[in-house]
Amino acid sequence: MTNNFLAKKSVYDITRFTTLDYKDHLACIIWFTKCNMRCSYCYNSKVVEGEGILSNQELFDFLKSRVGKLDAVVLSGGECTLNPDILELCEEIKELGFKIKIDTNGLNPDILEELVDFSLIDFIALDYKAPAQKFKHITQNGSIEKFYKTLDMLIYKKFPFEVRTTIHSDLLDESDINSIALDLHKRKYNGTYFIQNYLHVDDTFNTLSQYSIPVDKTLISNVVPIEFRN
Ligand code: SF4
Repeated sequence: MTNNFLAKKSVYDITRFTTLDYKDHLACIIWFTKCNMRCSYCYNSKVVEGEGILSNQELFDFLKSRVGKLDAVVLSGGECTLNPDILELCEEIKELGFKIKIDTNGLNPDILEELVDFSLIDFIALDYKAPAQKFKHITQNGSIEKFYKTLDMLIYKKFPFEVRTTIHSDLLDESDINSIALDLHKRKYNGTYFIQNYLHVDDTFNTLSQYSIPVDKTLISNVVPIEFRN
């Protein structure tokens, strides 16, 4: 690692320990700044719009201190694939012996494919934000074709990943969930589709009702296995 690489600051914060974010793993979470979306319900606006606080030197000092205590690192944010050093970061994390999970909105298919092809990551949690007709409204980004490219690439390569959607009833309803599930079925996604309910915080990008009406599960189709997380 060069001094230039070690001096760069793109990490907003580190969650030092989690058993929840990467199933069956003891992990930490690295929160990277910047994102190419502005989701209405995003509770990480400070991470998305903030400046990096921790240098790569500080990041790797921490990770070295976790060798033998944790077995995995989750790269989240923000959108971690926007980091121009993501390949090198993953290489160096792998050198320490950790597994890597990436949380992503899927808008960087080429970077994700490189990470997969070079075996630099072990698992992906892919956010399927909305069906096509609502994608731009919810994310403020109209590049759903890039998301589809990522989704198809991961299915084609049989890479271990999960698809998930955050639901707020101001934005998405049962018919939208069914539309996504049907699309996953058509693309031959054979994993579980996870639905997670919006949890209210004050500083989201758009003002949303504090209470989201729960999904009526009787209206949800079963074309793919669906699991509700909260
Ligand atoms: S919720 Fe949306 S805006 Fe927030 S970090 Fe994730 S993709 Fe970016």
